[in-house]
Amino acid sequence: MNKNMNYGDDYRFIPATSVQSGVSQELLPDLYVHTSQIANIVFYSYPGSNEFVLIDAGMPKSAEEIIAVAERRFGKNAKAKAIILTHGHFDHVGAIIELVEHWQVPVFAHLLELPYLTGLKDYPEPDPTVDSGLVAKMSPMFPNEAIDLGESVQELPLDGTVPFMEGFKWIHTPGHTPGHVSLFRERDGALIAGDAFVTVKQESLYKVFTQEKELNGPPKYLTPDWAAAFESVKILAALNPSVAVTGHGVPMSGEELSEGLRKLVDNFDKIALPNNKK
Ligand SMILES: [Zn+2]
Ligand SMILES: [Zn+2]
Repeated sequence: MNKNMNYGDDYRFIPATSVQSGVSQELLPDLYVHTSQIANIVFYSYPGSNEFVLIDAGMPKSAEEIIAVAERRFGKNAKAKAIILTHGHFDHVGAIIELVEHWQVPVFAHLLELPYLTGLKDYPEPDPTVDSGLVAKMSPMFPNEAIDLGESVQELPLDGTVPFMEGFKWIHTPGHTPGHVSLFRERDGALIAGDAFVTVKQESLYKVFTQEKELNGPPKYLTPDWAAAFESVKILAALNPSVAVTGHGVPMSGEELSEGLRKLVDNFDKIALPNNKK
């Protein structure tokens, strides 16, 4: 492992999975979604090319799986141009060091997320009291220490563009984390939402396992700023996305997505807020 890059001391495999684990699907011709255990990664690609951009970097210990998915989709010479992070939680950076070393690629994240990606600041401890669900109850075992990507990580361009993803803009959607971003393409309404909202009740082990579709706010046990999280959901709903892939849960589109977002905005306290924050 590169001596300039380290996971936190609490880095570990998390024994949680879902019926979607190992499943890949083409969301759009240039967006390919893969689920590893309980988290999604997205490949953005160029028609007829073996090059791609990876959005988020999976669960701890999933690097071999992610490389295999890339090679199956784009061929043995599959080549990443960059990794874009929606945020730095363990289930979005779980394989990132191995992937950066394998593909020799730069990582981009929001300025406010960089302290958590350069060893300067740990995320708050997960809060198991937010929900009675078993994922919430097991959340204290989730890694929350900062990882250190050293000089491999840099700030997203200030003009809102996303490197190597023409047509996409990054949108600051804080609340779940301070530097959380979502990626949106106006041309076709495609949204990569990260954990700003998710399409599964992520606190429930049963619902996570079955991946029952249900539009929810960000995972409760790891969200410290609910006022900002609500503002972020409102911003994303106002974009009127036509299709969304979120950090957890299956992709959603059309009426189901717009209806789900409308409901979430109208009933944010009921649907999204933890009991102790209402
Ligand atoms: Zn997260
Ligand atoms: Zn997540």
